[in-house]
Amino acid sequence: MVAELVPETPRATSIVLELPAWHRHRAGQHVDVRLTAQDGHQAERSYSIASAPEDGYVMLTVERVPDGEVSPHLASELRTGDQLELRGPIGGYFVWDDSAREPVLLVAGGPGIVPFRSMLRHRQAAAEDVAVRLLYSARSLQDVIYREELMRLAAYDEVDIRFALTREWPQTWHGHRGRIDSRLLSEVSWPARDRPRIFICGPAPFVETAASTLAAQGQPPDRIKTERFGPAQRGQPG
Ligand SMILES: Cc1cc2nc3c(=O)[nH]c(=O)nc-3n(C[C@H](O)[C@H](O)[C@H](O)COP(=O)(O)OP(=O)(O)OC[C@H]3O[C@@H](n4cnc5c(N)ncnc54)[C@H](O)[C@@H]3O)c2cc1C
Repeated sequence: MVAELVPETPRATSIVLELPAWHRHRAGQHVDVRLTAQDGHQAERSYSIASAPEDGYVMLTVERVPDGEVSPHLASELRTGDQLELRGPIGGYFVWDDSAREPVLLVAGGPGIVPFRSMLRHRQAAAEDVAVRLLYSARSLQDVIYREELMRLAAYDEVDIRFALTREWPQTWHGHRGRIDSRLLSEVSWPARDRPRIFICGPAPFVETAASTLAAQGQPPDRIKTERFGPAQRGQPG
């Protein structure tokens, strides 16, 4: 059941769920959500879990895709008390466990930040000594999901967070302007000799560009884990 709806940005909403039974998830896993129309037509999409295993609740964050079948309903039409059909937690590959002590680089494009919220909260709860850097590409400051929480993490919890804004930025913006590029990636990534774990998540072309750039910079491909949202025809957010 939908327990709470939290507007995150003009296009993204977080959905806090009350579930009758839940197997504790791992940071980075997702669920499949199935919607059934009155005429029986069904549509199923995957959504990453935004809450940490320790949080004691399950939260999803959905960004509305224009003309999408499922996301506009979840991001804009859902009401508290509505029922959702859910399968999960799913996925054993794109997960980060606190047993891994190597530094972590997270690279997010748009809603690709969602599984990283779970990983960052899990780190806070269970592995504060693991060094983490986050590079987050969004269209504008307005489109940055979990903005306040990320700013807090950057200020107090020693998570090195860099934002890249692809379409609009304030005049006083000191962060990266435009799409992420090879220079920015080499600035934020750990040296390959530190054996960093690298997670990249977002629209498929964004993920492919970031992964191939990091591999070309000498990061071993087997340390780079990727999760692609949606189809391949869109570029970086922006
Ligand atoms: C493992 C996994 C986890 C995911 N987690 C999240 C999440 O946490 N939050 C979230 O918002 N989404 C997430 N997604 C994406 C999500 O599953 C849907 O693809 C997305 O919500 C669009 O579904 P839709 O039914 O609204 O659009 P559709 O009806 O499937 O598509 C409508 C149109 O938009 C295009 N389109 C579809 N998806 C995208 C996209 N992502 N970007 C741009 N254009 C698109 C389609 O090609 C089509 O032209 C995840 C996907 C995967 C595989």
